[in-house]
Amino acid sequence: MTVNHTHFINGKHRPGTSGAFHDVFNPSTGEVQGKTPLADSAEINEAVKAAVDAFPNWSRTSVVRRARILFKFLELATADKDNLARLLSSEHGKVFEDARGDVQRGLEVIEFACGIPHFMKGEYSNAVSDGIDVYSMRKPLGAVACITPFNFPAMIPMWMFGMAIACGNTVVLKPSEKDPSVPLRLAELMLEAGAPPGVLNVLHGDKGAVDGLLDHAGIKAVSFVGSTPIAQYVYARGAAAGKRVQAMGGAKNHMIVMPDADIDLVVDSLIGSAYGSAGERCMANPVAVAVGDQVADAIIERLIPRIGELKIGPSLDPEMEMGPLVTAEHHAKVKSYIDMGVREGAKLLVDGRDYRCGIQGYEKGFFMGASLFDQVTPTMQSYRDEIFGPVLQIMRSPNFEDAMSLPTQHPYGNGTSIFTRDGDAARDYADRVEVGMVGINVPIPVPVAFHTFGGWKQSSFGDTNQHGTAGVHFYTKIKTVTSRWPKGVRAGADFFIPTLN
Ligand code: NAD
Repeated sequence: MTVNHTHFINGKHRPGTSGAFHDVFNPSTGEVQGKTPLADSAEINEAVKAAVDAFPNWSRTSVVRRARILFKFLELATADKDNLARLLSSEHGKVFEDARGDVQRGLEVIEFACGIPHFMKGEYSNAVSDGIDVYSMRKPLGAVACITPFNFPAMIPMWMFGMAIACGNTVVLKPSEKDPSVPLRLAELMLEAGAPPGVLNVLHGDKGAVDGLLDHAGIKAVSFVGSTPIAQYVYARGAAAGKRVQAMGGAKNHMIVMPDADIDLVVDSLIGSAYGSAGERCMANPVAVAVGDQVADAIIERLIPRIGELKIGPSLDPEMEMGPLVTAEHHAKVKSYIDMGVREGAKLLVDGRDYRCGIQGYEKGFFMGASLFDQVTPTMQSYRDEIFGPVLQIMRSPNFEDAMSLPTQHPYGNGTSIFTRDGDAARDYADRVEVGMVGINVPIPVPVAFHTFGGWKQSSFGDTNQHGTAGVHFYTKIKTVTSRWPKGVRAGADFFIPTLN
């Protein structure tokens, strides 16, 4: 039985009528379990119209009431967390506990968004000149589009719609066509929490839907997360259409391991951050840079047996630590990068390419074992590109400066970490490395919701990060009022720009 997913427009499920669909797999079994409708232009117009029509009332709804609806959503989604995580795990393939984490990290942004009355406060300057006061207020933008990737189908939609809706905008969410169920369920919960119909719409689709939203005059801003080529395209096309755009792209995160690091901590951190979620995280750690051969050898010696013990299998089996990749197509792509690494001369110490799940019923799942490369060098294409699978590449650097130059010179600049006991080295690294998010003895430095998330270089286009105060800034525009209440006799007209003497 396959599920025919629906759009969610103006508070109602709306079956797709374009006739085009995308298969949704159960990656653990390899079977098709659903169909995502791909929107045509009539459906795009309908979703945008719903958001545009809902905007005047929602933007005028008091900020306190908007916050209360988010509090209610938080309560409902928290109660539904296990159900959301099960849905998520069954379509994405990440293991259940990790799927719960995906939901939880999104809910933490909603918690932050519940404080929106504080963040919408403007500024006020009393008596900037004789009888003149100046104040500013934050205004929502209008209907905005939120376009999200497959790998965090709960967290990333909530990063975006939580902040956008709190600020008084209305949303057309275009989630990944690969795992549509969780975004749909979140929209149902938002309606149940009291958000009026049209405030959060879910429109499914592929490039056609994205292009339709980028070009639509009703959409005032676009928030995008996905791969770098698409992020760059979305940024350029959205900006050319006069919209505010933030577009986060791919990553290749380096962990620098100094000679004084705690190697047991490093190995624990690498196992989780390189292979967790089968490496399908933009903050995964697919590159470990060992400072000195001794460090590299010590990591490898302890890592190989740990890789052998990894429990890889059906994502909903509570015993498992790593599930399958999202699709057979992505499995083939990751495999081709391992082939490339071998061709380029890197040393494949552990080969996960031929891993098969032996559990009955799961033989056709998109499983891949963990792979480990040593002797990876900066010119290799398999190093320059994002692989987005369970592949860890070890590089050897002679010293700290050389190690730091690798993430600094890499085209991507999302996250990085340093493992050391030396505070001076850690501080210097955090200060100088050309990467947007840095961990010190922390392998996946995803900032908490009240800070902001965003990489540098090819990992992000646009100048505003996700969530935190940057999220408020992205989803609002400032109006500044200069006010004078005349008293007594009016002066004559002024022909020169007023200045402060
Ligand atoms: P993707 O770029 O294939 O898809 C992202 C979104 O763009 C989806 O909604 C998809 O439908 C749409 N899309 C796909 N092709 C398109 C096209 N040709 N034109 C217009 N829209 C298109 O990314 P994905 O495979 O879903 O997600 C994985 C990628 O996302 C990885 O590169 C990962 O690093 C990145 N990612 C980045 C961050 C971050 O914050 N920097 C976070 C999570 C994931």
